[in-house]
Amino acid sequence: MPPVKKRLMINITFPDGAIRQYDRGTTAMGIAKSISEGLARKVIAAGVNGQVWDLSRPINEDATVKLYTWNDAEGKNTFWHSSAHLMAEAVEGMFPGVKFWVGPPVENGFYYDMDLGDKKITEEDLVAIEKKMNELAKKNSPYERKEMPKAEAIKYFTAKGDEYKLDLLQNLNDGEITFYTQGNFTDLCRGPHIPNTGLIKAIKLTNIAGAYWKGDEKNKQLTRLYGVTFPSQKELDEYLAMLEEAKKRDHRKLGKELGIYTMDDDVGPGLIMWMPNGTVIIEELEKLAKETESAAGYKRVVTPHIAKESMYLTSGHLPYYADSMYPPMEMEGEKYYLKSMNCPHHHKIYAAEPKSYRDLPYRVAEYGTVYRYEQSGELFGLMRVRCLHMNDAHIYCTKDQFEEEFRAVNEMYLKYFKIFGIDKYVMRLSLHSADKLGKKYVNEPELWVQTEAMVREVLINSNIPFVEVQDEAAFYGPKIDVQIWSVIGREFTLATNQVDFSQGRSFKLQYTTPDNQTETPLIIHRAPLGTHERFIGFLLEHYAGKLPVWLAPVQVKVLPISDKFLDYAKTVADKLKKSDIRAEVDDRNEKIGKKIRDTELMKVPYMLVVGEKEMNDNKVAVRRQGVGDVGVFAVEDFLFKIKTEITERTDVSAFVVK
Ligand SMILES: [Zn+2]
Ligand SMILES: [Zn+2]
Repeated sequence: MPPVKKRLMINITFPDGAIRQYDRGTTAMGIAKSISEGLARKVIAAGVNGQVWDLSRPINEDATVKLYTWNDAEGKNTFWHSSAHLMAEAVEGMFPGVKFWVGPPVENGFYYDMDLGDKKITEEDLVAIEKKMNELAKKNSPYERKEMPKAEAIKYFTAKGDEYKLDLLQNLNDGEITFYTQGNFTDLCRGPHIPNTGLIKAIKLTNIAGAYWKGDEKNKQLTRLYGVTFPSQKELDEYLAMLEEAKKRDHRKLGKELGIYTMDDDVGPGLIMWMPNGTVIIEELEKLAKETESAAGYKRVVTPHIAKESMYLTSGHLPYYADSMYPPMEMEGEKYYLKSMNCPHHHKIYAAEPKSYRDLPYRVAEYGTVYRYEQSGELFGLMRVRCLHMNDAHIYCTKDQFEEEFRAVNEMYLKYFKIFGIDKYVMRLSLHSADKLGKKYVNEPELWVQTEAMVREVLINSNIPFVEVQDEAAFYGPKIDVQIWSVIGREFTLATNQVDFSQGRSFKLQYTTPDNQTETPLIIHRAPLGTHERFIGFLLEHYAGKLPVWLAPVQVKVLPISDKFLDYAKTVADKLKKSDIRAEVDDRNEKIGKKIRDTELMKVPYMLVVGEKEMNDNKVAVRRQGVGDVGVFAVEDFLFKIKTEITERTDVSAFVVK
């Protein structure tokens, strides 16, 4: 028997815990192929010990490996970031001398910031760049990674006269610098990238915008080119159709048409003023939250909008979150900050009275107003604003109570999803990263591992779909971002849910145990309905402005056929109003057809048409928005049915037989 050549093997651990042996120096692509050819065709990047890697990068030690496809956020991000390189290659070919800053993936695609000197990219150029990108993609050029000593990298970009990449190099050290080349384009980049350009099958450049270098308006303005790419033409077509639908449902357009909110230059950017119709929605949402929270044992509190610097030093928001806070106000020799979170105020309420284990869980809730500094370029309708109203609450509990409390919070989310017809959702569990303890994360290695395990267990036990992401936790504990999808398939990050083992200590929060010891409570931060701003923005798109009757600013419009029936119309409306129905009369001297059309446009759920016959019989002819006539009813019967629909908070009409 010939001697067996000794080979070095490494252990690869898969997400399900299975361990397989591979040759040292194997790649994630090799691993994918060993599983199946089908998987190898779909795989885009790999998670190696929690970091996203190129599929072609050799793995030389034991590692945990997760293979990412287009369906994973990491896969999409890698795909889109690689597409940014492809776009840069096309642009460089057409605009020689262009200099590039950064090209990250974003929510729906990617962008690249570039300095075109005195040249300009026009809408027509976009089509040409797209065409060029398609040609380049077809060449199947591999993305090749090369490690580069710092001195050599500096030499390369000095020769190119590229001050942007030289600036990036300043903060990098030997061993951290990699170059990637595909086709004729070489870039300083940390990676990772897809194996080759051939995977990019469909390309759409979506926007040209200006962006100050490093987001600072004192700096030069660069050109930001946005695009989106897909692994098939079908997916691009679906995406474009969805965008078309989203345009019709744009919350900024509907918000204006339906009188929901406004903004004003004299008030300032990102500061929403809720108009009467929007305020009705807000009050209905708060009513829902109050009922739900009261049933779940929460108590309500009210806190001021500002606090002294010392509180935010204790909480750690200063200096960690100083960037997202408004600058301080000085008075009486003290600095005061507008609050960017409600937590510290709630901690102070907890601390105001001594607590024993009998007082826990202690749950306090508030629709809290918070202020966050967002750069003006980042502001967007109701989605990114500077003043928010948050469905906030904090639960202070013992370790033994944690599982039950956290499970109850998750159930509250699910209850809301059901009410709003949200069928698709995922919880993103963000974990810490051990090498950043003491910097980005509180230095409590054991507590991190313990808490993360507790959260994971509850998520598994309650059968909630979730994904885990490394290195995105809050600084005081693991974080769960709740992602939801609107009816037309657009993704929204609704809210975060956090577990906190650290703030309790910083604020010296305590309770006495049954054997008279003192302990620090765990804190759960939760906001299932997110902020009014983002949630109402979502609802407007989700329902295309056609809110269910319980949320509709005007629930019923009474439409007299002519002035002769105006008094009867008013009697009907008054009767409804006495039963807390939001009813109005269209008393304009217009034809009934126009009255109906206008009411339809305002998306009022019910129209009651009244004429001779209705008046004589004390009845109303009922029309449902978007449906048409649903029959003639006695006023009392209509009232009873609509009341039921409102109380049940359903979006199924009580008048339409399915
Ligand atoms: Zn790159
Ligand atoms: Zn909080």
